Amino acid sequence: MIETDVLIIGSGPAGYTAGLYTTRAGLNTDLYTGTAVGGQLTYTHAVENFPGFEKISGFDLMDVFKKQIQTLGAKIHHEQIIRLNTQVYPFEFETEMAEKGTARAVILATGAKARWLNVQGEEKFKGNGISVCATCDGFFYRNKTVAVIGGGNTALYEALFLSKVASKVYVINRKDTFSGERLLQEQVQNESKIEILYHTVVQSFEGEAHLTHIQIKNTITQEESRLAVDGVFEAVGTEPETALIVGQVKRTESGYIETNKRTMETSVPGIFACGDVQEEKYRQAIIAAGSGCIAALSAENFVYRQPKK
Ligand SMILES: Cc1cc2nc3c(=O)[nH]c(=O)nc-3n(C[C@H](O)[C@H](O)[C@H](O)COP(=O)(O)OP(=O)(O)OC[C@H]3O[C@@H](n4cnc5c(N)ncnc54)[C@H](O)[C@@H]3O)c2cc1C
Repeated sequence: MIETDVLIIGSGPAGYTAGLYTTRAGLNTDLYTGTAVGGQLTYTHAVENFPGFEKISGFDLMDVFKKQIQTLGAKIHHEQIIRLNTQVYPFEFETEMAEKGTARAVILATGAKARWLNVQGEEKFKGNGISVCATCDGFFYRNKTVAVIGGGNTALYEALFLSKVASKVYVINRKDTFSGERLLQEQVQNESKIEILYHTVVQSFEGEAHLTHIQIKNTITQEESRLAVDGVFEAVGTEPETALIVGQVKRTESGYIETNKRTMETSVPGIFACGDVQEEKYRQAIIAAGSGCIAALSAENFVYRQPKK
């Protein structure tokens, strides 16, 4: 049976940063990494926008985070949390190895997952021609031809962002309208570097070592064609990892954990959330780390205000 001050669930930039602060504050900290040790950033080979590092692989960056908090004495468990009860105090949890524990505060840093199209060739070119983050990888396509797939706000933002870098941007939208904000739609429609392909779906991604073409189909005419591209940005949605707290902690309409952005408190006192699991708009490592710091400071405040047993 584990009895800890702070349980941190997740080992991305948010979780590790939270652990750095709670450990330095003298709180017993147990951090569970889950299956994706280091989080989403480990899927990218080059991070060029994390302050202090000109260029570093996502894996190496997260290893630096991990070593720093390990040195301070945080207990890192390479395990998944499978159950969390936020309706009792201290909070109760259970790990995949059936170990049980209690925590005086919990920091949820379980992140989010990009949705993928699941079409032929996608696996082969993930991270090698296919990306889910224009802010992260757009720079690699300077003066090249790219395609953005999707019709919501993210797709429109990404297309506009990429039009400042790439020489040509196709937007592939399966409908005849966009679901994103009207202002963004107008900006996309008026940008000369952007060409919109409505009623179009992707059938497969093709190439040898690197992606070179997308096989597309017009859903009205049924006409199939090949589009030459250097890179593809999929923007077909993200899903926050909230399975542990569904029905216990308030979520937004789109399923993200609702937090007070100044404190990272959730609807349950003593339960905090940080990083992509509660961030609907700007999903970046530095933002996740910053919110992890806020969550940790708030958790510290919360724990020290609880009566001692
Ligand atoms: C391909 C790609 C490239 C990117 N490139 C950049 C970039 O260059 N620069 C940048 O700033 N951002 C980049 N991002 C975005 C950045 O990775 C995310 O914003 C950031 O990782 C979010 O951090 P997080 O800590 O909130 O969550 P995540 O990194 O998603 O980590 C979530 C963690 O929670 C754990 N977890 C989930 N459920 C459980 C459970 N039940 N029990 C225990 N653990 C659990 C997972 O194992 C994981 O460790 C990129 C994203 C992707 C997908």
